[in-house]
Amino acid sequence: MSNEEKNIVDCLIIGSGPAGYTAAIYAARANLKPVMFTGLQQGGQLMNTTDVENYPGYPKGILGPEMMEDFRKQAERFGTEINFGMVTKVDFSTSPKKVWIDDTKLVEAHSVIIATGAEAKWLGLPSEKRLNGNGVSACAVCDGFFYKNTEVAIVGAGDTACEEALYLSKLCTKVHMIVRRDEMRASKIMQDRVLNTPNIQVYWNSETDEIIGENVVESVRLKNNKTGEITEIAVKGFFVAIGHKPNSDVFKEFLDTDDQGYIITQNGTPKTKIPGVYACGDVQDKTYRQAVTAAGSGCMAALESERWLGEMRQ
Ligand code: NDP
Repeated sequence: MSNEEKNIVDCLIIGSGPAGYTAAIYAARANLKPVMFTGLQQGGQLMNTTDVENYPGYPKGILGPEMMEDFRKQAERFGTEINFGMVTKVDFSTSPKKVWIDDTKLVEAHSVIIATGAEAKWLGLPSEKRLNGNGVSACAVCDGFFYKNTEVAIVGAGDTACEEALYLSKLCTKVHMIVRRDEMRASKIMQDRVLNTPNIQVYWNSETDEIIGENVVESVRLKNNKTGEITEIAVKGFFVAIGHKPNSDVFKEFLDTDDQGYIITQNGTPKTKIPGVYACGDVQDKTYRQAVTAAGSGCMAALESERWLGEMRQ
């Protein structure tokens, strides 16, 4: 038996958001000795959030990073091995399955739980890329502080954009919110909060034409897509909050994904088309995308993994 064979992992968990940690808690308590690779952002998207008010069990709300710290401690308490590392290649055609970490380390596993989540989308303007980190950001909670007492712009009209606009409104003198249609996609309560915040100004039917500035953001040029009118607003920060892309590219050779890249799972379960490979959380959920639904699907993935390992050994 080679060293690699001796070290076959029963339950490998890829990703460390609510789905990954919940899968780890269940797998560890079932004695599957789960091994987790966290990805670049340990804790996932909730590390970019402030107050989480809708996760059951926290009646007063909790900060996203604090909640993820609790998740991590709970997973570790039952013996999950947590490693920092990024999955760069997989081969699900073999038994056990093969997973490469950071292009170099090979991990073999009987079952794999994919909980890699989703990441921020960008507008695609060259100026957005050039000024990223110098005024352009996709995370108000991470970077808002740098624009304290200045004027900023934010693009997007979903719950994330509203949440981030409200966050920025507490730090900045004025928040210019750029909305491409004449209505917002966000929930009514979030829209109401935005529209009732005096220092948030909404620009309806507006698109970002250009972010202006040589080395740092100086202003943003908007185009009204109904009238063609151009408006330039002086801002120091430009925040992009237009949704997310599932982190599924590395699995696409072996798993089915939909037109947006979400991994396709079977009949409301976390099962993928490969026995022993499960997907949970935002990488397979474009509908609900909540911490609590991600956690729930992580639990389901661990239960399926446990069942599958049992069947495999019969
Ligand atoms: P969404 O996909 O819900 O919204 C994306 C927004 O960005 C839409 O308004 C969309 O416009 C706009 N948009 C997309 N592309 C562009 C573009 N190129 N230019 C300008 N605008 C653009 O993403 P969110 O990240 O806001 O939310 C994701 C999920 O997470 C949702 O289900 C949301 O409810 C949930 N969520 C819940 C929170 C909470 O409950 N506290 C907090 C944050 C998120 P259009 O509407 O025209 O398509």
